[in-house]
Amino acid sequence: MSPARRIIICGGGAIGTAIAYFLGRRGALPIVIERHEVAGSASGKSGGFLALDWCRGTVLDGLARRSFALHAALAEELGNPWGYRRLTTYGGYAREGDDARGTGGRPWLSAGVTLTGRLGSPQTTALVEPRAYTTGMMRAAEEHGAELRPGAVTSLVRDPTGALAGVALDGGEIVEGDAVVIAMGPWSILAAHWLPLPAVYGYKGHSLVFDTGSAIPAEALFLEYQEASGEVLTPELFARADGTTWVCAISSTGPLPIDPAAVAPDDGAHARLEAMCRTLSPALSTAPIVARQACFRPVTEDGLPLIGAVPGLAGAYVATGHSVWGMLNAPATGEAISELILDGTARHIDLTPFAPERLSPLDPARLRRA
Ligand SMILES: Cc1cc2nc3c(=O)[nH]c(=O)nc-3n(C[C@H](O)[C@H](O)[C@H](O)COP(=O)(O)OP(=O)(O)OC[C@H]3O[C@@H](n4cnc5c(N)ncnc54)[C@H](O)[C@@H]3O)c2cc1C
Repeated sequence: MSPARRIIICGGGAIGTAIAYFLGRRGALPIVIERHEVAGSASGKSGGFLALDWCRGTVLDGLARRSFALHAALAEELGNPWGYRRLTTYGGYAREGDDARGTGGRPWLSAGVTLTGRLGSPQTTALVEPRAYTTGMMRAAEEHGAELRPGAVTSLVRDPTGALAGVALDGGEIVEGDAVVIAMGPWSILAAHWLPLPAVYGYKGHSLVFDTGSAIPAEALFLEYQEASGEVLTPELFARADGTTWVCAISSTGPLPIDPAAVAPDDGAHARLEAMCRTLSPALSTAPIVARQACFRPVTEDGLPLIGAVPGLAGAYVATGHSVWGMLNAPATGEAISELILDGTARHIDLTPFAPERLSPLDPARLRRA
């Protein structure tokens, strides 16, 4: 019997851990190398909202539908330690200064919130607690033989013939592998020093997590909210199975620090979010805040993820750039990359629209200047 293939996965976010899980399930030896902590970035701080058909009419539709189904199956198979649950999802609008007293279209909302319709049902929308999901997938991968190693990947290592042999870590250690997957979220841009990869940018988002107990049912809300200044925000509110409610609204293009542990909120962003929550919901205005968060989602030039083999170097793969749908699309991405590496082709998803070569590689000289 030939020895199991050692596959190095750079980055322990939702994407990297899903790849490790699906590779481990097939008998490979995945090694996840994580610089900060598993789920320490967007994959632990995002909304965790999942939708079956919100990508219809786009090339993401097949990936999203496959992934929505895989989320349900994984929660069932792995005992759901991440609070996977189905939701009813509403849309609506409100303005700062509108009546914050009394109740609106739902018992937990202020009278000033107008609901305009139902955007999703329990058949089409769902939620996971993203940190528990990502760490849970890593644990499940480890049960199939995956390894988690702390360390920052600094470059690729090649053998004397020029073939890919592994990666080098910041302490000088070399980790040998038969294949390498770049799954470092917005930090994947650093791999453009080592491989012909297109640019990946980071787009910052702020969020709050409230301890709302049983005050808010299994519901999600997408709103337009006008501040007194006239600025329009687009808040999202998701009630989680663990009795917390996650709220986000404020995004920015602040610079991405090289060290994921150094991500910090913009001045005043959380105070604005707190004021908005007081207007939107009496349940939120009295609930303790258990987390004030900021994180970066990975975005490509054309808004589509990069999923596939990197041209020009056998054994090099990339899986990043999932933007606002990285939690939803993590399982199908993990499955597809595992099939691509082990079988030579993805069997469930057509990866053609996500091929990295559709975009020009980033010039490393431009990267150095940035
Ligand atoms: C505010 C907000 C809300 C969101 N809400 C949703 C939602 O409701 N539903 C949804 O589907 N998606 C949502 N997203 C998007 C989703 O969170 C991201 O697309 C997803 O988390 C990206 O996962 P990732 O694994 O690619 O990246 P990350 O989570 O960023 O993980 C990358 C990992 O790489 C590590 N790393 C970095 N450099 C190195 C290095 N040199 N060596 C080793 N490791 C390294 C980092 O420490 C990090 O752990 C949201 C995003 C934001 C910002």
